[in-house]
Amino acid sequence: MSMEKLELRYRQVDSSLVKKLKQMPGGEAVGRCYQCGTCSASCVVNAMLDNFNPRRVIRMAVLGMREVLESVEPWYCAVCYMCTERCPRNVKPVSVLMAVKNLSAIEGKVPQAFRNINENIARIGRLFEIDDFTNFMREDMGLPPIEPSDEEEVAKLISGTEFERVVKGEAENE
Ligand code: SF4
Ligand code: SF4
Repeated sequence: MSMEKLELRYRQVDSSLVKKLKQMPGGEAVGRCYQCGTCSASCVVNAMLDNFNPRRVIRMAVLGMREVLESVEPWYCAVCYMCTERCPRNVKPVSVLMAVKNLSAIEGKVPQAFRNINENIARIGRLFEIDDFTNFMREDMGLPPIEPSDEEEVAKLISGTEFERVVKGEAENE
């Protein structure tokens, strides 16, 4: 989404969004942002992707634009902390983005591509399946093969966690 296309639709504004974010770990300082753009200018992902801009994500959150919870944009963050090193207001943009993603998960609004990753982590404890080709490539690089996951062990590890609740909620909503 380019800045020109950032429209504020008043009917969709949720004034409680910023309050919720401030109550979440990492989101406490979101209201301090004065939109200087230092985070975006420092961002390694923004340098590569036009559609990722941490300043814009924070602006949308502060304005109560709930579509930020369904957007893939916060999920592109590489968690390099450059923005957080440089933010003159100590907003900790990387942590605000994390809070946005956590709220998105709590409200069952994680974008589909990332739900698939969640499902893999919940089932096999990995981002993706390790196939023969991956092990072949590892062998080629002198690395040992990766053994298949113990799915029962992974199920035990996530049992009773908030992550398990989020993944089950995502599956039910499909
Ligand atoms: S650097 Fe800090 S104050 Fe400036 S836009 Fe980013 S979050 Fe806001
Ligand atoms: S932590 Fe995320 S938002 Fe901040 S500079 Fe790195 S990639 Fe960009």
